[in-house]
Amino acid sequence: MTLRAYGCGQETLDGLKAETERLEGLFSVTRPDSEIARLNAEGSIVPSADVRDAVGKALALAQESGGALDIALYPLLTEWGFTTGQYQVPGAERIRELLAAADWRQIELSDAGLRIAPGMALDLGSLAKGYTADVLTKRLKEAGVTSALLDLGGNIQAVGAKPDGSSWQIGIRDPQGEGHLGVVSAADMAVVTSGGYERYFTGEDGRVYWHILDPATGCPARSGLLSVTVIGSEGWRCDGLSTALFVMGPEKAREHWRQAGNYELVLVTEDGEVIVTDGLAGSFTLSQPDKYTLTVWKRDTVRNHD
Ligand code: ADP
Ligand code: MG
Repeated sequence: MTLRAYGCGQETLDGLKAETERLEGLFSVTRPDSEIARLNAEGSIVPSADVRDAVGKALALAQESGGALDIALYPLLTEWGFTTGQYQVPGAERIRELLAAADWRQIELSDAGLRIAPGMALDLGSLAKGYTADVLTKRLKEAGVTSALLDLGGNIQAVGAKPDGSSWQIGIRDPQGEGHLGVVSAADMAVVTSGGYERYFTGEDGRVYWHILDPATGCPARSGLLSVTVIGSEGWRCDGLSTALFVMGPEKAREHWRQAGNYELVLVTEDGEVIVTDGLAGSFTLSQPDKYTLTVWKRDTVRNHD
């Protein structure tokens, strides 16, 4: 992670680091003493304000995405080896068994606490970095900082503009090689990318398997997309949506974008197409026009006339 802030002292940055570590101590699924790990081990906890807030947001987005975002997939992620690096392709029967217990609708978040059903385990990996970036942004604003760029492992959050008042230039990684495929200019925005290239392995069958699972199949989501970048005002939502829209694929992503109306997208398809939504028209530059073709989605186009 790289946190850059202007017009403040080292102690502000030290505070951000401490805050990041505090949140990791709550959300981490692998640290045995985290709140999420205790929930997974014991089945219920009285959550801290941040865990309550993050789980509540994740459940709302699970609903909104028709279940494409599902924070109850941890047992499947473990079976595939994405949590340990001991990668394997599980058998169909085993996947069916684990999938039966992985259902975000069985998560109970109430005034009394947070409870999961037997056999369930939660993982906030799809939106924890975005949530953390939101908290850090709030802390910076409270400290009077008007210009900062937070990079939490691919989750970029721009606080205000650059110190000279111009927008930040944020590179979007090429999912099929080194370097950037394009640059987005943005201020006061989260720019979050999810892609199959981040964590993956090649099976004995020669196929590539990545860490974003389709909750409908329990297997890596193959929707025709290589990466999804979501640009919007809230980090947690951009992070959760980047994962969910990757699962949903281009058609459903388009519908969701049109209906939600409060974020913009850069999609990279398996066919070498870069799709940007029209709200980015003036702020996206394609870096590799020889490698990718550019398509712009318009919000007001009627579907039948496409
Ligand atoms: P990254 O952490 O690599 O930046 P994402 O934000 O896309 O990427 O989150 C991927 C993580 O979310 C996975 O490592 C896993 O922990 C979890 N995950 C995988 N598939 C799903 C899903 N369909 N819904 C919710 N979480 C998921
Ligand atoms: Mg995400």
